[in-house]
Order: sequence, then structure tokens, then C-alpha cells
Amino acid sequence: MNSISRRIFVAALPLIAIGLASAARAQGNPPENDAGATLFQNVRIFDGKGASLSAPSNVLIKGNIIERISTEPIAAGPGATAIAGNGRTLMPGLIDAHWHAMLIRPNPAQAIDGDVGYNNIAAGLEATDTLMRGFTTVRDVGGPVFGLKAAIDGALIAGPRIYPSGAMITVTSGHGDFRRLSDLPRTIGGMLSRMERIGGSMVADSPDEVRVRVREQLMQGASQIKLTAGGGVSSPFSPIDVSTFTEPELRAAVEAAENWGTYVTVHAFTPTAIQRAIAAGVKCIEHGFLMDDATAKLMAEKDIWLSTQPLPEELRQGFPPGSVQRAKADEVWPGIARVYELAKKYKLKTAWGTDVLFSQALAQKQGAILASLVRWYSPAEALAMATGTNAELLALSGKRSPYPGKLGVVEQGALADLLLVDGNPLENIDLIADPAKNFKVIMKDGRIYKNAL
Ligand SMILES: [Zn+2]
Repeated sequence: MNSISRRIFVAALPLIAIGLASAARAQGNPPENDAGATLFQNVRIFDGKGASLSAPSNVLIKGNIIERISTEPIAAGPGATAIAGNGRTLMPGLIDAHWHAMLIRPNPAQAIDGDVGYNNIAAGLEATDTLMRGFTTVRDVGGPVFGLKAAIDGALIAGPRIYPSGAMITVTSGHGDFRRLSDLPRTIGGMLSRMERIGGSMVADSPDEVRVRVREQLMQGASQIKLTAGGGVSSPFSPIDVSTFTEPELRAAVEAAENWGTYVTVHAFTPTAIQRAIAAGVKCIEHGFLMDDATAKLMAEKDIWLSTQPLPEELRQGFPPGSVQRAKADEVWPGIARVYELAKKYKLKTAWGTDVLFSQALAQKQGAILASLVRWYSPAEALAMATGTNAELLALSGKRSPYPGKLGVVEQGALADLLLVDGNPLENIDLIADPAKNFKVIMKDGRIYKNAL
């Protein structure tokens, strides 16, 4: 798309996007300084790892890279955009390690049975909002997200970097099998269900079927593979205590992913589901809410990632009282505090995410959900988790990373995904809960998507 047709496309978007914050739309599009330079002057840096801010510094961005950081003045050079930081905080763009870009705006029925074009437009608008909340990268752990990712990477629409899993892979009746009882029995080798045809989730009931579905996601550009190894809250036919895939089935997925240079992550709550996944070579556990002490210890010994979420109470209350899902949520929720306590006790490599599903309102609290980690962590620890630490998890994708380079840190040579925050989030982490007010500049890949100064 050339720049004129892009401008026309962009100009037409507000007609579609009535109701979207006009500031986000006006500022959410790739600007003209694509290959230019930006100089942040007089900023104090949170580098994505440490516990304190730097001395007042200057940071030069060239292209999409952080070229130079210095407490001495830096010459911007002709054509560079200079941004007077006035002592504000410069920090890495936020990363959500458990996101479903295609499953925020639609309700479950729309996500499965709705029009694919509509769902993609809704997801595009949500992606722009996600970036305007300061989330410059998401790890997408299930959903038909490859088209959205291509549209963002191709600058058709503003949004975060996406590490896609593609379809989540499940067993018959497992978490992610959203078929109805009337869809049964499946004809072996026969018709696929709607959710499979749109690439939302795939049902696989043998090692051979797992291999096919894993390789299909890799062929489409998956940067990691997601399986559901046990029951889940939101799916209709999976009790939370069950284990689903057998160890040989899990191992088939791990082999296919590792042959392709990447890894498998699994949705798992219970000790049995987690331990079986680890035995099969899985590198990352999503949620882990019902894990016990021995399982946490095993994860530490085997250097397994825990990708978990401080799920908000309103999500639990969103499940109708008396429903199967509500009963499951009531059982799972006490595990949230326990899993964080175990993660701290055993110093597990812990990634942070939100797992917002089917709620635009909740998605708007993405930063507030991150801030809620201060129940267990200092503000600096929470912010490091959502930047430097999450980026280490993303790096497990190796050469299958769609975005070669270093993410989640402010250091020379890293990719320029940056937020300029009005205030010090290490003293007041609630600043990140109101990004419209407090994030004055949002930069992704060296491009300024918002500049409110
Ligand atoms: Zn999820």
C-alpha cells in the first residue's frame, strides 16, 4: 500500500470506527517519521529490569533502534524529532504475555459463529486501543490472529507486535472445544467444525492429529504453540480437574515445535496436568492456579516458565451465578493468590498476562490489572515482569520470533518500543492504569503513535 492509498484508507477508518476515541485514531496511525530519528531529552529511565530510575538522561532513537543513551547532551541531527521529557519517566513498552486479540470484542457466540470479516475489523480496532494503552507487544495464546498481525505489521492499522500461536489445540471435550453436543459424533477424517475452519481452535485426539495441527500453525507463522492440557473455566465441557492430552500426544507437539525451533506452552491448572506437560518437554505453563508445592518445586528445578494472571474479581462475577462456569471460577479463584505465593517461594520465572476474554470493558483495565500485582510485588518488580521478564519469555521463540531484536528493555541496541510517562510509576504504579492521561508518548518500532506533549 503506497502512502497515498494508506492515507485514504486511514481517512476512511473514522467512518467505520465511530465510537472509538478520536485521539487514539488520530494518533494511532503510523506517522511520517518512519526512517527518522527521535531524541528524548531529560528523561529518567526505567530500564525494564532494575528497581530505580536513572539519572536525567537523553535517549536517541534511529530507525527502530535505541541508538544511544547518555547523561551528556546528544546532538539530534537534522530532521530529528526532539521531545522535551522535563524529567518524565521513559520506560519500555508494556508486554502482555497472555492475550487473545481476536477474542476481546466479540461474545463467545460471535467469536465462533460470527462473520469473520466483522470479527477482524473489531479486533483491529481493539488492537489500536491496546497499543494506545501502552502495550506494544502481546503474546497471543489462541485465536485466528494471523490476518490481524499481517495488517498491523504491514501498517494498515495501528496495533501491538503480535507473537501468534494461531489456533489453540485441544482434545475432544477439552478446554477450547466449543462444539455443541449436537455436533457429535465427529466423523473421523470428515468435516471440520466451524471453530476449526476459522482457525480458532483445533481438536486433536492422537499424536498424529496433534502433529498435523501443530505444523499447520507453524506453517502460518506461529511463533509458539499452545495446547490445553487440562480443563478450563470458560469452556462448556471440560471439568477443571481433568487432564486431557496424553503424554505421547503432548510429546508429539513438543517434537514438532522443537523441530521448528520453538516451544509449546500449555493451559494447565492441576499438578497432574502440569507435571505431565513438563515430562513431555513443555517449556511454559499458563495459569497454574491449582498447583501444589511439589509441582512448583519441580518447575523451579526444570526451569519451566510460569505465565500467570492476577485475574480480576469482576471476571469471576461475570459468570452467571448457578452456571457451570461460575462454579468452576469459584473453585479456581482462590488459587490465584496461592500461585503467586508459590512463584515467589520458588523464584519461578514468572511472566505476567491478563487473559481478558469477551469484554472490551475489561480490556480497558489492562494496565490496572498489571498494577494489581502490587498485592505480591513491588511496583518495580511488577513493571519488570511486564517488560524485561516477559521479553525473555518471548525470546524462547528463537528464530521463529517475528521481530528479531531485543524487546522489553531500554538499552542501546534494543528495539525502540517506549513509553514516556508523566510521573514516576515506581512510586505510583497506578499511573499505568490511566494511559490516556499519563502516557504522553507511545513509540513502537521507532515510530511515534502518540505524542501528547
Ligand atoms: Zn487464555
